[in-house]
Amino acid sequence: MAAAEFEVPKFREYPVIPALRPDEMAGSKPYVAAAPIQEALGFPGQLVDDWQAKAITRMGELLDKYRSFRVYMDACVHCGACTDKCHYFIGTADPKNMPVARQELVRKVYRRYFTFAGKYFPKLVGAVDLTRDVLDDWYSYFNQCSECRRCSVFCPYGIDTAEVTMAAREIMDSVGLGVKYTGEILGKLHKIGNNLGLPGPALEDTMLGLEEDIKDETGVDVRLPIDMKGAEVLLITPSADFFSEPHVDSLIGYAKVFHQAGISWTLSSHASEAGNFGLFIGNYEQMRKAAMRIRQAALDLGAKRIVVGECGHAWRVAYSFWNTLTGVGLGGEDPFAKALQQQLDPRHPVPQHICEFTYDLIQRGALNLDKEANDHRVITFHDSCNVARASRMGDMPGGQFVIPRSIIKSVANHFHDMPQDTICESTFCCGGGGGLLTDDLLEIRVKGALPRMEALKQVVDDHGVNFFASICAICKAQFNKVLPFYGFDTSMNGGVHQLVSTAIQLGTKE
Ligand code: SF4
Ligand code: SF4
Repeated sequence: MAAAEFEVPKFREYPVIPALRPDEMAGSKPYVAAAPIQEALGFPGQLVDDWQAKAITRMGELLDKYRSFRVYMDACVHCGACTDKCHYFIGTADPKNMPVARQELVRKVYRRYFTFAGKYFPKLVGAVDLTRDVLDDWYSYFNQCSECRRCSVFCPYGIDTAEVTMAAREIMDSVGLGVKYTGEILGKLHKIGNNLGLPGPALEDTMLGLEEDIKDETGVDVRLPIDMKGAEVLLITPSADFFSEPHVDSLIGYAKVFHQAGISWTLSSHASEAGNFGLFIGNYEQMRKAAMRIRQAALDLGAKRIVVGECGHAWRVAYSFWNTLTGVGLGGEDPFAKALQQQLDPRHPVPQHICEFTYDLIQRGALNLDKEANDHRVITFHDSCNVARASRMGDMPGGQFVIPRSIIKSVANHFHDMPQDTICESTFCCGGGGGLLTDDLLEIRVKGALPRMEALKQVVDDHGVNFFASICAICKAQFNKVLPFYGFDTSMNGGVHQLVSTAIQLGTKE
């Protein structure tokens, strides 16, 4: 690891609120997308001349369309309950990374143009014009929010900064100020079918290679099919699972589970990506367009079930948005949505998380698991924000917390949770979510990881934890990057189905 060009935060002895460092992160800005990237998504190629008027118009449209956005603009009483709840504030001490201050960047513009007091007595109510300086602050600080929703858990009014961030990014996109990283990835998804730009033949080769690896390891022929018509399950998984480490070990785990359960499954070359960066740029039309590939693939292949792999934000989009955006599940009224609703097997949830799928098999005794095979591992589990706070799993309250832990305990003997105020609903973001997983933003990613790393250190020190399990492709990629900054080895980073893969005994159950 090269020496950091910034100060890596020190572990704190006590979790005190940091002394403020105004404008500490004002210079943190991701690269702006070039014209071809933005235009391919239907946005202006560069900042338009009349950007101020256009941005205010777009803000008005969003206020009219999304009641929640208007409520969030009006409801904050500045109680301060959220101030120290954001990992980016804790890691940077920049006051604009306090959730309330982040919201205020938009709220003060809202007051100026959309409230009586702000129009006529701006100074009295803290209303400001949307100037270039304000826009620059938006670009910095709304790209220092991972849309993790931790602050909203502590807000007595449930104000969701993630939605404010999405609105701000949407407004910036609409005037030609989009982010290169997220825009480029969305472009690849639309053009090729996945975030990595991996074409169908390359994907097929990769899966054949994995089948050979599994055969070498186990002596068993486990298939990883692509575009298999008539397969019962269509697996939609993040493309990082196809070759990134440690992601691929979880993909092998899913394949072994399907094999052992005797359930036919397939990937789709048309929809070889669970990730949906439409969420990150805050644009529901892009989110819908990305999700439509999945609906199309399910229809083309005739799948009866759609199962989503280990990806936090993809699960959030699938669980919370697929039904209304695309008619996957109940919600859509167009003929294709209706056809899909008839095609899918109503005995199973739509969509279903791979952890729900595996948990169900374990509950029914359908898998033979050797827990001792994981005895070299002392495991903790990181709840990914989008699973923990923006979706659910299973048919029990808190299933998203219970199910992954239950799987881990079924496949391993040594498990310890991190401190209670850092897990489940109160989990800390990995620091790289929400479209921030780019090296242009390495400083904020490393600093924002501080609270997660502090909690990890506690279980490493107290229990000798050596395996840090998660169910999110972005978390895994982020941990690969930031663990060394805090003195941890990246070999501890892994997935829940990686643990399943180690424990599952192939060929010993019918
Ligand atoms: S990163 Fe999370 S905690 Fe921080 S402001 Fe955004 S949603 Fe809130
Ligand atoms: S907790 Fe809610 S009401 Fe209180 S300052 Fe934060 S956003 Fe405003």
